[in-house]
Amino acid sequence: MSVMKIPGHDHQGPREVSLEEIREVMGDCQLCPLGETRNKLVFGVGNPHARVMFIGEGPGKNEDMQGEPFVGAAGHKLDALLGVAGLKREDIYIANVIKCRPPANRNPKPDEIAACSPFLREQIRSIWPDVIVCLGNFASQFVLQTDAGVTTLRGRLHQTGHFVVAPTFHPAACIYHSDWQPLLEDDLRMVGRWLTEHPVRGEAPAAGDVPGAPASGTDGGVA
Ligand code: SF4
Repeated sequence: MSVMKIPGHDHQGPREVSLEEIREVMGDCQLCPLGETRNKLVFGVGNPHARVMFIGEGPGKNEDMQGEPFVGAAGHKLDALLGVAGLKREDIYIANVIKCRPPANRNPKPDEIAACSPFLREQIRSIWPDVIVCLGNFASQFVLQTDAGVTTLRGRLHQTGHFVVAPTFHPAACIYHSDWQPLLEDDLRMVGRWLTEHPVRGEAPAAGDVPGAPASGTDGGVA
């Protein structure tokens, strides 16, 4: 897997590079056309030592205006959902697959995802969570490197390298598909159970693959 070079680091192992250093490298990123149309780049927010990292698709209108993921009504909805897994905002980190809002909230294009994904990979390597919750198709397909849709992938935990991955629906999608909401809650309950059954590990992280690249681990269905 290619590693985005962070100045000052010869070896970029798990938790060696800070999120601030990654943000600094991004600067006023113009690597894809979304750099021209965004209002604010939305890097990510939360606990840099989180056990659980949530990955969404891309910024919406409010996020683009404020420069933070999951603000406003979407943020309140997420807070309520976190409670289902026994989590609070301060326990988690949230980032998106792409950091700039696509015009009119269209889907991100493959070349935009390809341009932006090195930043997400470094965020994952920096935080090195135990669990990655993928919200929606784009995050699930990126992390698990599959073409399968979230409807197929959800409902069980996947193992990819070091990470336990929980694909589930994006909360915004549940506004239009109310029957998905209880399934999303089931998935988050499953994450909460896994966290309870697997207390924090104290050992230093070992080097390993980061999602978004072919991983050494396989989808083991660890639920
Ligand atoms: S979406 Fe990502 S790659 Fe494209 S301009 Fe924004 S930060 Fe750069």
